[in-house]
Amino acid sequence: MSRFFHSGLAQLAPYTPGEQPKAQGLIKLNTNESPFPPAPGVQAAVLEAAGRLQLYNDPSAGRLTAAIARACRVGENQVICGNGSDEILAFALQAFGECGLAFPDITYGFYPVWAALYGLNTRIIPLNSQFDIDVTDYGGNDRTIVIANPNAPTGKALPLSAIEQLLSMNPDHVVIVDEAYVDFGAESAAALLTDYDNLLVVRTFSKSRQLAGARLGFALGNAPLIEDLNRIRNSFHPYNVNAMTQAAGIAALEDRAYFDTCRQSVMENREWTAEELRKIGFQVLPSKANFIFAAAPGMNGLAYQQALRERGVLVRYFDQPRIRDYVRISIGSREQMERVIFVTKEILA
Ligand SMILES: *Cc1c(COP(=O)(O)O)cnc(C)c1O
Repeated sequence: MSRFFHSGLAQLAPYTPGEQPKAQGLIKLNTNESPFPPAPGVQAAVLEAAGRLQLYNDPSAGRLTAAIARACRVGENQVICGNGSDEILAFALQAFGECGLAFPDITYGFYPVWAALYGLNTRIIPLNSQFDIDVTDYGGNDRTIVIANPNAPTGKALPLSAIEQLLSMNPDHVVIVDEAYVDFGAESAAALLTDYDNLLVVRTFSKSRQLAGARLGFALGNAPLIEDLNRIRNSFHPYNVNAMTQAAGIAALEDRAYFDTCRQSVMENREWTAEELRKIGFQVLPSKANFIFAAAPGMNGLAYQQALRERGVLVRYFDQPRIRDYVRISIGSREQMERVIFVTKEILA
């Protein structure tokens, strides 16, 4: 750290992304990417946009915003696009975090990092013993709430009724529902937007739309919340979603059939993998995401992660209380998951 660095930020512990390995031939199941390439129309759309890169991109991402609004059945003034959902989440915490921030002990590791970056006071509310968010723990809360649904890295999802309870118990606080994984079998809170002015739903093209490297996320909320987020966005970086990514997003949304085929395949492979692991003694949490959270029999998470790594399979281990027995395994292609089961049997033998 240089002597010029902001003293108030000296204690920041930045987010650590999952490894993006240089070595070839590894089975990469550590960052919840899609095993499939982008939808067939994406490449041509990006190439076309690339021919106009001398011009600034549309700062309001108008066509993309309209396409998202149509797909999600909301008004165009209820959508904002971001450079990944991470950017949207950062905007939201900056915009709505003045009263502090409440979130679970086991959840997306970026929430506490942004809280520290923006100097927000936090209240950490433990998941229950089943690793579920118990919404009654959020009664009498006096902070903005951010939860991931399905949660990460557990993969467990709350039903819509629980989200509604959370919203109605906290009418004077924004409830941010991070739905990065909602397309893999959970219920979206977007259906509640007409009834709750304190709801912000955050989504991404990274996990279920094969565009992690393009950096595209969005939020759905009532117009005043979206206006607030645009106030932050336009005070930071109005051109936040580049022209190629806007084109990629529109093309991805147009191919509904490809989207459905890919997510169906991930869900089938998830259930197959979970079942195979349970057969050999693993504890596997029920997942509605594109990953599973699993504990190997008689072996801690770090040891299992390292044993897999030696056999060319990358998964994610979190060195954090309560979950040291577990690893998070992203769901890849059937062939990749068969390899995971094969090498796991080798490790246990
Ligand atoms: C992956 C992930 C994100 C970030 O996604 P990007 O859109 O790629 O920034 C946000 N929240 C959760 C819970 C995630 O797992």
